[in-house]
Amino acid sequence: MPGTLTLVPTPIGNLSDISPRCREALAEADFIAAEDTRVTLKLLNHLGLKKPLVSYYEHNKEFSGKKILERILAGENCAQVSDAGSPAISDPGEDLVRLCAENGVTVTAIPGPCAAITALSISALPTGRFTFEGFLSTNKKNRAAHLQSLAGETRTMIFYEAPHKLEATLKDLLEAFGPDRRISLCRELTKLHEEVLRMTLREAADLCAQQPPRGEYVLIVEGAAEIKAPEPSLEDALTRVAELMAAGLTRKDAVRQVSGETGLPKNALYEASVK
Ligand code: SAM
Repeated sequence: MPGTLTLVPTPIGNLSDISPRCREALAEADFIAAEDTRVTLKLLNHLGLKKPLVSYYEHNKEFSGKKILERILAGENCAQVSDAGSPAISDPGEDLVRLCAENGVTVTAIPGPCAAITALSISALPTGRFTFEGFLSTNKKNRAAHLQSLAGETRTMIFYEAPHKLEATLKDLLEAFGPDRRISLCRELTKLHEEVLRMTLREAADLCAQQPPRGEYVLIVEGAAEIKAPEPSLEDALTRVAELMAAGLTRKDAVRQVSGETGLPKNALYEASVK
């Protein structure tokens, strides 16, 4: 019988965030697929665990993924970890999950630390609808295309960024979304110097140009204002009812159709059309 693949999230800065269930999953796995075996070894030492580790990262994922799959198909259980946070979220894992799923292997994920969700929840920006954008490309053309595709995005947007690229990224966000858009710079989450700076994009770009940023950042950017469709007027709706009736529809059917198109209540529309 094949084994399973379990995605195990690890702390993004505070070791106490490792949950008992994550520890148990690591302890029970036959082997661990790690983004960086040295980082994972430190975590295992902290947990008092010893486990065989295999490396699985961006540049060996094809070769290593196949080997991992073979072992799982032969009956071993694999736990997958990245350096920090949830595997498969801007981290290795996505391809391994797909490979395992395509080969009938059961994949489970333990919920746990994720910088994106932690930052979003304390951003003070709308959380009802959001989009995760990960890292912007370093390739100028792809980066511009990505930002352009977000020009009308009304949902709150989540970006990851490395500190040494933050200044350039804030400038690009400022250019793409304008100076007044709100941003929450969420820094060093779960760590001693955790900080959330809530301001406009103009203020954020100025601040970053004055003070070189330090530590890890998630950027939460407010979405574009919703452009509301103009309210349908009763007069226009009645004209449309008359047009439909002239085309052969009964009053009832014409009213039903126009009510669907405009959102105006059927009864009121019917009464007005009779008058
Ligand atoms: N898979 C991880 C997760 O679930 O959070 C994300 C990995 S991604 C390679 C690393 C990026 O996450 C960093 O560049 C930063 O944008 C963000 N990040 C990770 N830890 C963070 C922290 N403690 N505070 C703020 N941002 C963090």
